[in-house]
Order: sequence, then structure tokens, then C-alpha cells
Amino acid sequence: MPDLSVIKSCFLSCLLVLLQTWSSQQDEQSQLLLVSFDGFRWDYVNRVPTPNFRALIDEGVQVEQVENTYITKTYPNHYTLVTGLHAETHGIVANEMYDPIHNRSFSMEGPEVYNAWWWEEAVPLWVTNQKAGRKSGAAMWPGSDVAIGGTYPTHFLSYNASMPFEARVEKLIDWFLGPEAINFGVLYWEEPDESGHNLGPESPLMDVVIADIDDKLGFLRGKLKNAGLYDKVNLIVTSDHGMTQLSHDKIIELDTYVSRDLYTWIDKSPVVGILPKEGKLEEVYSSLKNANPNMVVYKKEEIPEHYHYRHNVRIMPLIIEVKEGWTVMQNRNGSFMLGNHGYNNSLPSMQPVFVARGPAFRRDYTKASMRSVDLYPLMCNILGLKPLPNNGSLSNVQDLLVETSTPKPVVPPKPREPSYAWAVGSILGAALVIGFLFIFVQQQPAWSLEFKSDRYPRYRAKAEYTKSNMGKDATVEKGRAIIKIIAD
Ligand SMILES: [Zn+2]
Repeated sequence: MPDLSVIKSCFLSCLLVLLQTWSSQQDEQSQLLLVSFDGFRWDYVNRVPTPNFRALIDEGVQVEQVENTYITKTYPNHYTLVTGLHAETHGIVANEMYDPIHNRSFSMEGPEVYNAWWWEEAVPLWVTNQKAGRKSGAAMWPGSDVAIGGTYPTHFLSYNASMPFEARVEKLIDWFLGPEAINFGVLYWEEPDESGHNLGPESPLMDVVIADIDDKLGFLRGKLKNAGLYDKVNLIVTSDHGMTQLSHDKIIELDTYVSRDLYTWIDKSPVVGILPKEGKLEEVYSSLKNANPNMVVYKKEEIPEHYHYRHNVRIMPLIIEVKEGWTVMQNRNGSFMLGNHGYNNSLPSMQPVFVARGPAFRRDYTKASMRSVDLYPLMCNILGLKPLPNNGSLSNVQDLLVETSTPKPVVPPKPREPSYAWAVGSILGAALVIGFLFIFVQQQPAWSLEFKSDRYPRYRAKAEYTKSNMGKDATVEKGRAIIKIIAD
């Protein structure tokens, strides 16, 4: 009796070879996979060992900090990455929006997300790719399960937060190899944003979450290698924004300064749109203008031009921007998070990671900074597509690519020069943290923390420190810490 598992494995291997042969017979289009780990701050790669990020950096390029677009929230920035447009131009100006012309409200958890006209002030790259006769695949990228301009991605997944990362990766690999093979894919994962909000980025538990993301990147690399795609597909790993630590001591309560009868509150801290009731704009503005030194209130026409956040009806007549680490609420009964983003995009803490490798990219090359709007013309160049009008510039990032005509890239000054003192400080800091954790774990043989999110109610996470090895359903092991992400 032949071993069924051997037959099965032979059959699968043959199928894979056939698919690869079929795939290689397709015309040789450049292939590109854009991955976003939501809320992966630029410096997380330096915080714990991240061997998979390191491998991509060694084999490709790293941009140390990416200046994303104002406001540094998830939906605006994910749409910027695939359009090259600032939020005022692509129209997804916030996670929660109000459109006064259509008198409709958009919330990222609500059904309006699927109303395509919210998205149709711009055309995402997957649509442009398809208009050029190619195929695109999208795994949960914001807006990718919406028929923008009447067009869905060739292959896509309807948003389902409980679908594991690994299943999303396997879908994408299938799409790269299968019939109607894609040459452009986008992949979205909710972490480490979710944990960053719940734990705060300064929590030592975030080390575990970051290590888990690195493992997930390792899974993706392994799958690409097994499918024979690793050296064909240009892989870009980036994010929409960073994360900063909040404090209960830094809360601004708007009810202290102005009656909520005078305005409608749009979106959430730290940049809030204020829609004054008819004829109440000046009253609301003067009540708030000098009310608190930790917030700035702008009339729409006063918003600094370099924010690129003024010219859209979905930007409210007044906006409040609070200083880093502060939370603005109507009163303290509102929900409070230990970590948040959305603050000014010039703040290093708001800026995301960027690494990339593949045939189009140079090897072992580091650049100090770029703007997220420059990614779109870069991706169009790799895909051989004519970019639509955008706010980016290929010349700003062409030095990342192998066939660059720029002999010596112009590297903008680093926002923070690493120094000897900085290095010594970092080493001492790391030693202190490790020492603290060691002593802490020795004294406390086991403890656990469970948290659940209002934003993603189907998800809860359990973090544990333990002296012994973890159970087989643990997703990551780093030192003595484990974290479990459990879908209800
Ligand atoms: Zn995000």
C-alpha cells in the first residue's frame, strides 16, 4: 500500500512546477508586492532582533524614516501610498469623515466604506495596473474591496479582520502563480497598530508584538522562496504611520471650553474636525483659540499650506491639533488609549518603516528619508506604468533603484544625527531594560495580561511572561515573553 502522504506531496510538487513553468511563460512583467504592517514605526526594527527585516535591508534598501501625509491616520495614509496624493487631494481626509455636500458620514467600521464615491477623487494603483491590461491582487488593503470607478482588483478579499496573516499571504502567492496571474499585489496586516494602541508603544510587551511581525515577515519570505518568486517579485514593506505613548495626565476636555451644543465633533483625537452649528463659527473659534497651550485651533483657511490639508470640503471649517502625547476629548468619559497616532507628520514618532528588495532595487543601500507620496511614482516606474498626476517625485527616490542615472544620490540631512553619546545611551538603555525584565521575570514566575479592542471586537490578545516554554498555540517566543492573538 503506497504512502498516501508521499503521493500527495509528489502531486503537489508536480503541480507547483507546472504552475511555475506556466507562470514563467507569461510575458515577463515586473512584479511588485506592497506590504503594510499597520502602525509599524520606523525605529521598531532597531528595538528587538528583527532578522527578517535585517535580511531585506542587507539584500535591498532601507529608508530610515518616511514622512507620511497629514493626518497620520490609517485610511488617509494607505490611500496616499497607492495614489501618491496628499489627503486633501485624494479625498480620504480622515478615518471618520463628514461630507457636507452629500450630507453623509464615513466611518472606517461603517457601511459607507463600501460607497465608492468616497474614494473616487483618486484612482488607486491597482486600477491603473488593470487598465494597462495587467492583473492586480489585494488582501485587505483599505479601499481594495470597493469598486472604485466601477473596478475591483482582479483578485481581492473582502475585509475580515479575523483572517490570519498566513492565509492572506497564501492567497497572494496563489494569485501570483495561478490563472489570471497578477503582477501587482497589496497586503495589509492590522498589527502592530492594534497592540500599540492598547499597550502603548513604550510597553515592554510591544517587543513581543514587533518580534511577531518579524516572524510574519519571515513567513512571507519563506512562502515567496518556496514558490520561486523571491528573486522575481519586488517586495516593499512599509506602513501608514508610527505610534506615540499617551498619558492620563495629558487629556484636554473640550467641554471645559465650549458647549457641545455649538458644534459637531468629527473624527477622533489627536486631530479633530469641528463643524460649528450655523452662525457659530466665530464663537466656537474664539472659545477654543487660546484655551489650552497643548492644542492649536485652525480655521480651515489658516491651516499651514505645507500640511497639504486644506483644499477639500471634507476638511472641517475648524480643526484642532494637539501636541504629541496629548489626547483631546469632550470629557474624560470618552475611550482612552495608551498609544495613538494622527499627530503632526513632521514628528519622528509618526513616521513609518520602509524596506524593499528585488530585481528593481539596489542592494545594501540606506537612505535617510523620503516622503510617502514618492512611493507611487517609484512603484509606477517599477511596473512600467505611466503615473497619474500625483504629489510625489520619482527623482526623490530614484537612487533606491538599480538603473539610476543619478551617479551620486543626494541624501537629505538626517533629522537626528546618530552620535557617540546616542549609541552609548542606547546600549545602556537596552541593558537596563533587559536587566529589569530579567529581575522582574525572576521575581514573578508568571503573569498575564489580556486586552480586547473596541475597534476590532472580534480580536483579543493575551500576553504572558512565563519561565517555562509556552504552549503550542503560542505564535511567538522571544525570551520569556509570549503573546497570543485570539480571534473570537
Ligand atoms: Zn494605521
